[in-house]
Amino acid sequence: MRIILLGAPGAGKGTVAKLLTAFDGSVQISTGDILRGAVKAGTPLGKEAKGYMDSGGLVPDSLIMGIMEQRLQEKDCQGGFLLDGFPRTIPQADELGKLLAKLNIKLDLVANIDVPRDVILDRLTTRRTCSNTSCQEIYNVKSNPPAPGDKCKKCGSPTIQRADETVEAISKRLDVYNEKTAPLIGYYDKKGLLLTIKETSSDGVVNAIKNGIAAKK
Ligand code: ADP
Ligand code: ZN
Repeated sequence: MRIILLGAPGAGKGTVAKLLTAFDGSVQISTGDILRGAVKAGTPLGKEAKGYMDSGGLVPDSLIMGIMEQRLQEKDCQGGFLLDGFPRTIPQADELGKLLAKLNIKLDLVANIDVPRDVILDRLTTRRTCSNTSCQEIYNVKSNPPAPGDKCKKCGSPTIQRADETVEAISKRLDVYNEKTAPLIGYYDKKGLLLTIKETSSDGVVNAIKNGIAAKK
């Protein structure tokens, strides 16, 4: 499948993407994961992105488009991809449209995962992420806790609370989402690609996406 996952921070895009890759072998492309990997590795990209990310703001479109232009042409994308956290602005969506046209790729759909704000706030403040950049498994202290000692169950590395998951950074990220990213809902609706999903369980969202794609075929 070739889809975009749209939704506020904490809507569950990453979790849903992981479940869907297991289903049909499409690859998850998370710009957030790529950027955090670059920050940890101390690359020039990471050095430039870090300040924007820690404050909860967006990284400039030009940096993101450079990453995505390369990433979408890698071989593993030929079997399909799930875009998680990209596009995040109208200019990114316009650029993505041009890039996909150039590569002769058609999107199946844009899934808009619509979760109430109070659910999102609760989820984000209880989230923990594996500190190992090649793992980045996500936990929740209430519903899916890490192993004893706050260790990752998959790789044993410490799990951490992200710098952008303090209450201030979270409310900033939600404001940024409403201002910069939510306009993409109307943008993709006009293109006839939008599927809005109001399920709060990840299985419910996964099924709605599978059904949505089947209905378009
Ligand atoms: P979230 O949990 O907020 O969805 P992500 O893991 O997708 O977070 O992204 C973390 C941070 O990385 C964002 O707050 C932003 O600073 C940066 N980022 C990720 N994707 C993009 C993008 N497409 N455009 C601009 N900035 C991005
Ligand atoms: Zn891990």
